[in-house]
Amino acid sequence: MSQLTHDLGSDIGSRRWFRGLATFFGMTAGALAFWPGFAPLEAAPLMPSDADVRGEYRRQAIAPLALGADTGRRIGPGTLVRPLASAPERPRLEMVATLGRGDGFETMLRRAGMDPADARQVTALVGGTVAVGEIEPGTRVDLVLGRRPAVSAPRPLDTLSLRARFDLELAVTRATPGGPLVLERKPIRVDDTPLRVRGIVGESLYRSARAAGAPASAVQAYLKALTDQIDLERELRPGDTFDIILSHRRAATGERLPGQLLYAGVERDGQRKVQLMRWGREGRFFEASGIGEQKDGLIAPVAGPVGSRFGMRRHPILGYRRMHAGLDYRARHGTPIVAVTDGQVTGAGRMGGCGYAVRLRHGGALDTRYCHMSRIAVDAGQNVRRGQVIGYVGSTGLSTGPHLHYEMYRGGRAVDPASVRYVTRAMLSGEQLARFRATLARIREVEAGAAFGSLPKPAAAPSGPRREIDRLD
Ligand SMILES: [Zn+2]
Repeated sequence: MSQLTHDLGSDIGSRRWFRGLATFFGMTAGALAFWPGFAPLEAAPLMPSDADVRGEYRRQAIAPLALGADTGRRIGPGTLVRPLASAPERPRLEMVATLGRGDGFETMLRRAGMDPADARQVTALVGGTVAVGEIEPGTRVDLVLGRRPAVSAPRPLDTLSLRARFDLELAVTRATPGGPLVLERKPIRVDDTPLRVRGIVGESLYRSARAAGAPASAVQAYLKALTDQIDLERELRPGDTFDIILSHRRAATGERLPGQLLYAGVERDGQRKVQLMRWGREGRFFEASGIGEQKDGLIAPVAGPVGSRFGMRRHPILGYRRMHAGLDYRARHGTPIVAVTDGQVTGAGRMGGCGYAVRLRHGGALDTRYCHMSRIAVDAGQNVRRGQVIGYVGSTGLSTGPHLHYEMYRGGRAVDPASVRYVTRAMLSGEQLARFRATLARIREVEAGAAFGSLPKPAAAPSGPRREIDRLD
């Protein structure tokens, strides 16, 4: 055996090598000779099948449509079927067309198969009542198309109806075949009484309010309004009562359209703890006392950790102990510096050891100064809003590296910025306050509705005084 086999990598060309090669080919040929053959299994059909039967099989077979299969769902015509010269058509075609986002009203009608001339006329009729562009996307249009006047002509419109607005339904009809199209307005009664949702806060205010029937958008607005007023985590207790009033429209046909939050209240032990009502053009919330929504306390002038605090310290450059009259924020060169609250720029430029700096004057005899900037982004005299970028972190002036030295003055005296938490609030007064209070009293009269889905249908058109609530100014 060892004479027949050989490592074909060694002694190439020798007799032993050729013998080994011959063995290799011989064994390979032997292996290939025993390769099994694959062929379809033969099985005799149970019944004789001729061309007709096979045609029947094909029509019921499930096979790729690309191969001409009929999937068995719809059986193809057999040999006995002869196509008709002309197929009868439905005389009327009822359908629903939906206005898509960015869709044209006329385009939609034409896509539904309407006669283009009719589509143009309908669009003009509808457009004469409501701006066609303001019809909500997703609006469904019920269409009935009539019989074609000729074989290949488009179908004319018989009737059409749509909810053009929350409080208006429009119908276009053709009184007589071939006659003109007529528009009919069908106003829908709408009740504008605001919706009031009250309940116990419980474990989760959000979940409780949703369960009580407040729409998600209203609960979010409610939480946001409250956050500006109280510390939700600590000050709101599970036993408190939430009180949400939102503008709300109910159509006589049953649809509901929740609007914006009008009132946000919290009650504890029967006492009103928080009462916020939307007021004014900007839609800000004001407390019952007429104090506007908190524009919140200070915000950090720069995103970064506090390095050196306010107080006596050894100066890093001058080397002796002296007062550090501000707060140092460590931040990278070029980090934006923002105004901690609304104010006016009283100084912008080089200020001695402070380097490039900006000084702001805020309400309440409060000033802030921002030092060592690499670049200043405001001009003296300019008004800035809370959070507005006023410059960028640098290392100008007496500074060992990029950081923000931030100072605060109250009545001209340096105070520790870390110790101050103050708020600026808008305030209503005089005649405006009186009107605000009157509206607040009126809105609190709204009766709490039952669950959102189970409110009784409005019986009558909205009553006089309550409508006013929607027009808070
Ligand atoms: Zn400093």
